[in-house]
Amino acid sequence: MLRSLPKRLAFTPKPFRAEATTQRRSFNATTIRFSGTVPPITPIEKLILEHSFNHLILSELRGSKQAVGPMSYATYMQFCLSHPTEGYYMKSLNKIFGAQGDFITSPDISQIFGEMIAIWLLSQWESAGCPSRLRLVELGPGRGTLITDVLRVTITKKSSQSVTIQVDLVETSLSLREIQRERLSGVPASIHWYDSIDHITPSNGSFTMLVAHEFFDALPIHVFRKTDEGWKEVMVSSRVTELDESNPEQYPRLQHVLSPEKTAISTIFGNSSSRFQSLPVGSDLEVSPTSFRLARKVGEVLAKNTQTGSSLGGCGLIIDYGRDHAFGHSRRGFKNHQIMDIFHRPGECDLTANVDFAYLKESMQDLVPVYGPITQKLFLTQMGLMVRLERLLQSHQGDQTTSDRIREGARRLINPQMGEEYSVMGISTTGGPVHPFHLLSDASK
Ligand code: SAH
Repeated sequence: MLRSLPKRLAFTPKPFRAEATTQRRSFNATTIRFSGTVPPITPIEKLILEHSFNHLILSELRGSKQAVGPMSYATYMQFCLSHPTEGYYMKSLNKIFGAQGDFITSPDISQIFGEMIAIWLLSQWESAGCPSRLRLVELGPGRGTLITDVLRVTITKKSSQSVTIQVDLVETSLSLREIQRERLSGVPASIHWYDSIDHITPSNGSFTMLVAHEFFDALPIHVFRKTDEGWKEVMVSSRVTELDESNPEQYPRLQHVLSPEKTAISTIFGNSSSRFQSLPVGSDLEVSPTSFRLARKVGEVLAKNTQTGSSLGGCGLIIDYGRDHAFGHSRRGFKNHQIMDIFHRPGECDLTANVDFAYLKESMQDLVPVYGPITQKLFLTQMGLMVRLERLLQSHQGDQTTSDRIREGARRLINPQMGEEYSVMGISTTGGPVHPFHLLSDASK
């Protein structure tokens, strides 16, 4: 018999609060209960359990009572989302986006979303003096709806000027790349795909316009708890000692455990912002070092090189659910438009966490001017959402069904849920004040 995990590793995550919602992944969930039949093990789950079991067996053989082998939540998240063959975003079998999929995002709710983003990006390009070479970069384009809308506006607005457009897409999923390729076929721009923003160079002779929508929430987070001894890491471990796929008592099969010791990772990243250092003992903290690194890279890509003059600089928008502060309990799963437990069907559910915009800002503000975040509602309304809505409705006069759909989509983008829970952060090397970020920032709460 294998021994269960020692008591001191036990850690119970706080339950989710408030209402479960449909059709969006922003945070407001009820406690997820498991009932009915126990689902079979997923390939990712098997991998993790085998890893834990192997370590348990090894420690048994050595006569040690302590289980080793829990993995960080960041590794767990990375595995579940980006495992090369079994990861959630990597499998073409997973129906991710849209009404028939697991979640629907703003670009697919209304074309006005992408149009307002395009208008903001182009306003910055104009402030930079309309350079004749434009580079559009998107991180995590999903189905390619946003980039298609941004490109349509860009091409329409610039048809009178000779502007060369290059599109660089950062996408790890081969199956999503295929969808993006189809979506963009025939577009008059040269399009390139990259595995990582690391392969994108600072703009060379072109003005860069970058967008990242619901990208940073998908990046791995570490979870730490502040103890009297300092930050310790909340890990993921097996909660079963023997696999019994039909036993509801053994589901979910994974659990959180608190690392008995401080580690280099928990100490370095738990103290990686002065905001974290001042948190009281007992606090839980979700930190994404990957987000910090990639956001810094965004700053490098957009920064003006004043010494050589080779880089014209650029602008960018980062849009996601989150606020200008850190979170402790925002991690959640998502499936079929429902918020799920993070240990439910690993690899078959989306995993996500709120974005700490202040951390993104801290990563790049010595490189580029950063604005906001402000709420999505403030951003979209100030960029002219209502005016655009009226024009669209006029062009569909007489078609009640389409008009209703357009009106409903636009309203959803700014309703108290999506409009308030999503935040927008701007980056621009063109010099302020930058509309609409100069208005009162109301996403810092
Ligand atoms: N922006 C889209 C899709 C959001 S889902 C929309 O709003 O609809 C997250 C996207 O990021 C997916 O395309 C996913 O494959 C991609 N992604 C996730 N992690 C990534 C990483 N580390 N590098 C590049 N792309 C990633």
